[in-house]
Amino acid sequence: MYDVKSMKAEEFINDEEILATLEYAEQNKNNRELIQQILDKAAPKKTGRGVECSGLSHREASVLLACEDPEIVEKIYELAKEIKQAFYGDRIVMFAPLYLSNYCVNKCVYCPYHFQNKEIPRKKLTQEEVKNEVIALQDMGHKRLAIESGEDPVNNPIEYILDCIKTIYSIKHKNGAIRRVNVNIAATTVENYKKLHDAGIGTYILFQETYHKESYEKLHPAGPKHNYAYHTEAMDRAMEGGIDDVGLGVLFGLDKYKYEFAGVLMHAEHLEAVRGVGPHTISVPRIRRASDIDPSVFDNGIDDDTFAKIVACIRIAVPYTGMIISTRESEACREKVLGLGVSQISGGSRTSVGGYAGYTPDERPHDTEQFDVSDQRSLDEVVKWLMDLGYIPSFCTACYREGRTGDRFMALCKVGQIQNCCHPNALMTLQEYLTDYASPETRAVGEALIQREIQNVPDEKRRQRAIDYLDEIKNGGKRDFRF
Ligand code: SF4
Ligand code: SF4
Repeated sequence: MYDVKSMKAEEFINDEEILATLEYAEQNKNNRELIQQILDKAAPKKTGRGVECSGLSHREASVLLACEDPEIVEKIYELAKEIKQAFYGDRIVMFAPLYLSNYCVNKCVYCPYHFQNKEIPRKKLTQEEVKNEVIALQDMGHKRLAIESGEDPVNNPIEYILDCIKTIYSIKHKNGAIRRVNVNIAATTVENYKKLHDAGIGTYILFQETYHKESYEKLHPAGPKHNYAYHTEAMDRAMEGGIDDVGLGVLFGLDKYKYEFAGVLMHAEHLEAVRGVGPHTISVPRIRRASDIDPSVFDNGIDDDTFAKIVACIRIAVPYTGMIISTRESEACREKVLGLGVSQISGGSRTSVGGYAGYTPDERPHDTEQFDVSDQRSLDEVVKWLMDLGYIPSFCTACYREGRTGDRFMALCKVGQIQNCCHPNALMTLQEYLTDYASPETRAVGEALIQREIQNVPDEKRRQRAIDYLDEIKNGGKRDFRF
């Protein structure tokens, strides 16, 4: 029985409700009148408090996703772009993954770290190696990391993860600093989530992989991750442990994308219903080639157009949730979905354990890679590319550091007020990047962009303060200003 407020996985992600949703969507995919009503409902509205969007239910959004009429699909894209512009403007937040350990006791059939893969060397970073990785990441210009680790209570217990977080935050190399550590580790207990919260993590990220229970159990045949309910209910435990910002995600290609789409939205609705705050981010990875893994054996793969439509429909359904895309995707695909709703991308990423320190930008260790990186450009190249496309790369971490997390973040975000902070923060952190790390070519493009964009800070006092701060970053050696 479907119950959005239930704390049981199979009730808030209810198979019958998803199947009924897919049938409803199929029946109404050519119902122009209904689709227009849905688009009108989702459109941004000006209110006394700013711009607001209502979002959509999983049923409404599934109708949009099912629609194949090219004229309406174009309207869906236009609305997604409008919403993206209203809440995120041209800013794109940058981050990098940091792999700590590939020891794992699970047997996820799509991941090369599964315990039966004897071909892959096993590696776990020492604290000294974490330090070297962080210095290499700081030297690239990163300020925001997502740490990744396999599940292994002996090799990677929670104490190891906590030690790594402590090490990461402690390193101040030249002008570098990691100001936000997001954590992507296996589902765990409320007690462990409390420990992660106390360690000052940003977002706790856990991909559901697939919401289809039967497929989930087949794809995770052994190890603690086999337990669908324990995995699916992890975000509730994380929030109970005090973590305000949680990140959802499915691995597209494992099961039917329409099922996954309805599932991830139902998960978001559940968190909103029981915690009063939806997910901070949704990630949209697609399955990739890796050691011992051939993506062609998964017959639910989706093409780039379908992928773009999924991104647009998520943007419309949950307008305040950040959307993340990694270097799994090619430059061309990333370019397409940036305009439709993606708000965070990784750059210069290495998906192996110990992939940063000691390698030149062109060298790429493959031995412990979790998946093939499609976009292999350096961070400098990605930053310049974004600016050439008209985006503003942002290294901002201000909300988390000002305590604007969870419902406090959402309260601001929901009335579009966050833009009063985001725009100058993006420009100031971009200036830090340009001054400390960029190539001369990227710096020239970026400084011209900042000159232009600083004029678009609406509040005059704030604009003047931002101009002063920019000057202090560029000429006074100061760092870490934020609104
Ligand atoms: S996806 Fe995670 S849990 Fe599964 S095998 Fe890979 S590292 Fe282990
Ligand atoms: S001000 Fe907050 S919402 Fe805006 S970019 Fe910075 S951290 Fe993100």
